[in-house]
Amino acid sequence: MELRLVRGVDAWWAITTRRYARLPENAVQNGRMTQEFHSRLDEMDFFATKARAFGLTVLTTTRCNLGCAYCFQNTGPAPESTFRPPRIRADSLDSQGVDDILEFTRRRMRELGRESVVLTLFGGEPLLRPDACLRLLRGLAPLGLRGAEMVSNLVLLTPSLARKLEAAGLQTIQVSFDGAQDEHDTVRVERSGRPTFDRIIANIRAAAEVTGIRWRFRVNVSATNIDTLPDLVDQLAALPLPQRATIRFGLVGDFSVGFTGALRHTGGVTDRLLTLVDRAIDAGLDVMLLGTPLADCPYCGEFGGSAGAVVNSDGTLYSCWETAGRPEWQVGTIADGYLSPELMADRWSRCDNTVEAHGETSAAQELYDLVDARILDRSRARRLAAADGLSPSAT
Ligand code: SF4
Repeated sequence: MELRLVRGVDAWWAITTRRYARLPENAVQNGRMTQEFHSRLDEMDFFATKARAFGLTVLTTTRCNLGCAYCFQNTGPAPESTFRPPRIRADSLDSQGVDDILEFTRRRMRELGRESVVLTLFGGEPLLRPDACLRLLRGLAPLGLRGAEMVSNLVLLTPSLARKLEAAGLQTIQVSFDGAQDEHDTVRVERSGRPTFDRIIANIRAAAEVTGIRWRFRVNVSATNIDTLPDLVDQLAALPLPQRATIRFGLVGDFSVGFTGALRHTGGVTDRLLTLVDRAIDAGLDVMLLGTPLADCPYCGEFGGSAGAVVNSDGTLYSCWETAGRPEWQVGTIADGYLSPELMADRWSRCDNTVEAHGETSAAQELYDLVDARILDRSRARRLAAADGLSPSAT
């Protein structure tokens, strides 16, 4: 199991994909965990990998109602003066397509000895096919649906649909922001060019009034929007939600194609990110780590789909969300299964977001470590304060 060690305040943090632990300063020597502390963590099952659920991501459609210029599903820039970048081949799931995916999932779970499944509804925009989302959720329930999340731009969510999705098993929705309102509305626009910020916020509020769905806010951080993010963090933290929301800062340049504001990993950027982390935690949000090891990714982490599957709406299989829908990366079909290992070898792309995977500099590594240490230190301080009844948010 991949282990990351990050220096915190008067301590070290040991981070794996699923767990983290705070260790005394003498637990790490010359950048490595000592054998003594490794054994102690091992005794506490820190490194244990439980039998996992089958990870299933389904693109209910490759179409999208938005025209984000940086979308990794674009195949080129939008023609001048339009918001319609050309995209990967358009396809959408119908009822038979859903049933075929359910049958494939049943078969794979049986072959792999998995007794539960975790679903991610993906697109394009999954809510362009709400019927397919509901049919998938309902169809997976008898297979042991243990978790279900949707990655949506949220423009199409209505309260009644949110209710139906929750009743069918949806637990979490992830929605992205590209800055505070003005900045977001220059980037995340409908294909007609209409802005989306107000609609997204209104739709979150309306869904939160009628469901207990958890919210995860993905905030893309670029050189052009970073100064607008404190206002966005405040606005998101002030939303009346049924439970504490999670925020994830995604550094542009780590994943993007077509973004023009890639961050340079300088001291100034680090300081501003640390301030954002403090602000988000103080405002009551949970902040996700920037650099969780992804060696255990349920999709690409195990070659040949032995931990999960990414299924496009036309029934083709991929190793990663980011390659889905691109024929040159296809690794099989739900009807015929995976290609031979030889054929798949060059197509098995990994979504590894670690610093090393992007060939970045030691300055970038330092930024990841400083920010993640701050997230862990500050979150711990908030938990301790809440336990002592010192926090105003301790309820
Ligand atoms: S909302 Fe998502 S899928 Fe749609 S264009 Fe934007 S980034 Fe791409």
